[in-house]
This record gives sequence, C-alpha cells and structure tokens, in this order.
Amino acid sequence: MCGIIGVSGVPDAARQVYLGLYSLQHRGQESSGIVSVDSAGVARAHRGMGLVADVFGEAVIAGLPGDVALGHTRYSTAGTSVLVNAQPMLASYREGPLALAHNGNLTNAVQLRSDLVAKGSIFQSSSDSEVLVHLIARSEAREPEDQLLDALERVEGAYSLVITIGRTLYAIVDPRGFRPLWLGRSGSGWVVASETCALDILGATPVRELEPGNVIRIQGGELDELPSLPPKPHRRCIFELVYFSRPDSTVFQRSVDGVRRALGRELAREHPAPDADCVFSVPDSSNAMALGFSEASGVKLEHALIRNHYVGRTFIQPVQAGRTAKVKIKFNPVREVLAGKKVVVVDDSIVRGTTSKALVQLIRQAGATEVHFRVGSPPITGPCYYGIDTPTKSELIGANHSVEEIRRHLGVDSLGYLSLDGMLRAAGGDPHEFCHACFSGEYPTEIPTDPARARHAAPLLAGVTT
Ligand code: AMP
Repeated sequence: MCGIIGVSGVPDAARQVYLGLYSLQHRGQESSGIVSVDSAGVARAHRGMGLVADVFGEAVIAGLPGDVALGHTRYSTAGTSVLVNAQPMLASYREGPLALAHNGNLTNAVQLRSDLVAKGSIFQSSSDSEVLVHLIARSEAREPEDQLLDALERVEGAYSLVITIGRTLYAIVDPRGFRPLWLGRSGSGWVVASETCALDILGATPVRELEPGNVIRIQGGELDELPSLPPKPHRRCIFELVYFSRPDSTVFQRSVDGVRRALGRELAREHPAPDADCVFSVPDSSNAMALGFSEASGVKLEHALIRNHYVGRTFIQPVQAGRTAKVKIKFNPVREVLAGKKVVVVDDSIVRGTTSKALVQLIRQAGATEVHFRVGSPPITGPCYYGIDTPTKSELIGANHSVEEIRRHLGVDSLGYLSLDGMLRAAGGDPHEFCHACFSGEYPTEIPTDPARARHAAPLLAGVTT
C-alpha cells in the first residue's frame, strides 16, 4: 500500500510534500520520496528506504526547489523492497521530465511489461508502476496529455496517481475507484493527497474527493477537469475503512472513525458477550471499533493493551524469539485491568492469526479468566490484487480453517467475525460500490495470472542509490 501527494503553485513545494508525507506514513513505511519541479522545469528527486523522518533532512529539502512537487510513501505490494522501486519515479523523455507516484496495483502489469520488454523497453525496477512510464513514453500520440491518456487506456486494476509532465500536475483515479484521492486548496495553489489528514497538516482546505475515473490537470495555477475515463462499476476498497486509512480522515465520503464505530456497534449486535466485564481494542486501528462495541453493548470500555509506538519495521528481532516474544515488543497488557476478568478483545481483522494468537497468550498470562475475541470484518479468504499487502491464500488462516478451528487455534472462549452484510451496513451508502474481494472472493477484475512473479521479480539494478 502507498500514500501519495502532489502540490502545485505552492512556494517551497517539497517542504509541503514532506509535511504531508508525515500524515501518510501509515500507508507505507518501507521507502519514501519526493520529486520537485522548479520554475525552469528542472526536476529533482530524492528517495530513500525507511520512514519520512529517516529519509529527509533540512539539506535534502533545500535541494528540492520549486513550486510543484510529488511525494510517495511505499509499502511494497508489487515489486521487491529495494531502493530502485521507491517512488516517485522520475524519467526523462521526449517531452521533458516525467514523474509519477502510484497507489494501487495494476492487474495486467506482468503482461504489459513482457510486451514492452519484447519491444525493447529497458526497465529499472520491478514495480508495476514503471509500466505506466514506459507506456506514456512509447505512445504515438503527439501531445503529452494524449500520451498519458493513451497509457491509461491500456492499464487495468487499481491506480490513484499523481503525475507531472514538465510543470503540469495530473491527478487520476481509476474508473473503479479502489483507492482514495483528495483535492484541496492551499493559498493560491492546489494539493492532491490520498487522505484528508494530509490536507489538514498543510492547512489546506479540502475541496472534494476525486470520483472514480476523474482526471484533473493543474497548470500555472489553473485547475481543469478533463473528460473522465470510460466508466466502470465503482469498487471502493472496504479495507480502507476497516483498517488502512487514518480515523481522522474522510475517505469515500465517509468519516473513517464513524465507520469504525459503526463496525463495532454491528459487531456487538451480531456477536454479543453479555457476561463480559470489559471490552478493549488491539490498538490503534481498532480503537474506534471497541468504542462502538462498548456503546452498543453497555460493556465497559477499558485500555488493557498498551502499544509501543517506537518499534519500527526494521527492529531487529531477538535471536530465536518466539511468537509471543515478538508481539511483546509491540504490546504490553495492563495486569490490573485484566486480572480475574472476563474480557472482550476487538480487532479489525485477522490475517495469518499469528499476532492474534500471541496476544491472547499475553492477555491470559495477565490473568484474564475468559477471552472473547471479536473481529470487525469477515474472515479474509483471498489475497488482494489491488494494493493491500495480504499474503497468499495458503497463509491466510480464514481461507483454510473454519471459525471453530480458528477459535481453537487462538485459544479463546468464543470468536465472532462480523458478517459481510454487517460490514457493508456499517459502511453505509450503496453496498454495491465496494470491493470486498478479500472477504467474499468477488474480484471485480480478472485476477493477474502470475502475481507472485510480479511481486518478487528481482530488480536488475538492486544496488542503485538515489
Ligand atoms: P494476525 O493475527 O497475525 O493475522 O494479525 C492481525 C493484525 O494485523 C490485526 O491487528 C490487523 O490490524 C493487522 N493487519 C491487517 N491487515 C494488515 C496488513 N495488510 N498489513 C499489516 N497489518 C495488517
């Protein structure tokens, strides 16, 4: 998964993008990058592995002048975790500098890539997004904008994009609208970002969320809406609301916090635990769900698990650390709250079941007498091909075991997953506008023939640094 941001007509654009990327850090912690374009049309890039705070410092930002800039935080879902796959991509082609930041996964990237390679294209990375750069560069259309539209006609799948061609910024959402993208106003300039929390940090005024298929062009302070891409049934990713987006954001015209509370309320109705002494969340993504569960059931809300926020993805695990030991680094139970209590634990989802099992052990060791596990979404039964990092089917516990088997595996007294209908009710609005393929198996596109190859294709230039 990834976070993207683009600004235009904003002084010191790279600094603004840098700030915005802080608010999009939750969407990707593997690498981050900024491309800026100055008044002469010169583009500069800086990308690095790690968190925004690790990659950028004052000197780096000062070296990215201009009033147009793009930014990206990456969590790899296609392509391996190496610097050449970090975005925004920056290429020089016949129209000048072309920069691109992508959130989503192209489902026909493997096929397109092999066609392009057969025609002589040389790829720098193993990321699906680079296919778009090549398609734009190879288009036979004369105008840069038509080259871009030409390329978009050929790609399938999930793409929210910010692209610069020269000094012109484009913002695009694929016709199904899998991933969010927002437009905001900052002084006399414009900001486009994955979530409203990134507009908030910049003090930008949210203008509107891009609709599926929207193509926006921002040039010299002017914003133009270009004709939309050919329409397809909308398929907003429900997992954005369940887990991925920040609760202080508005996504798909809904308050993420509001939906999470509603998920918790639905969960309390579908799977009550009337004899429980308290309910608590697995922080942080489930906090609002536990609140909703408590509201609807009257079961007292507690803070029983404390999360250490300073454990990064690069934390070196202790040698031979067991499953519980790894989870202990991230979570610690509050014994005084748990001892002698019948408890309800609310989590937003179970993927492999590894974390959940270890958490249950911690909760029992802290003295809980009964553990009732409640999940604010249905069992995940299939991988996502549209940008969420889910493992293969064989690793998904919900794909291979019944709820009773999972209950026994976790070692809980009861286990309740929210139903698909309950989840859609909590999301509100039109239930048909969502993609819930990872829960229901109803994939809205053709499934990529060889996703494993796309994801793990070895980059040829693994040693390149930027
Ligand atoms: P596990 O018990 O190992 O399946 O882990 C469940 C936890 O993973 C839940 O707390 C979820 O919030 C979290 N989770 C769900 N989806 C993802 C994802 N794509 N990447 C990382 N964590 C996730």
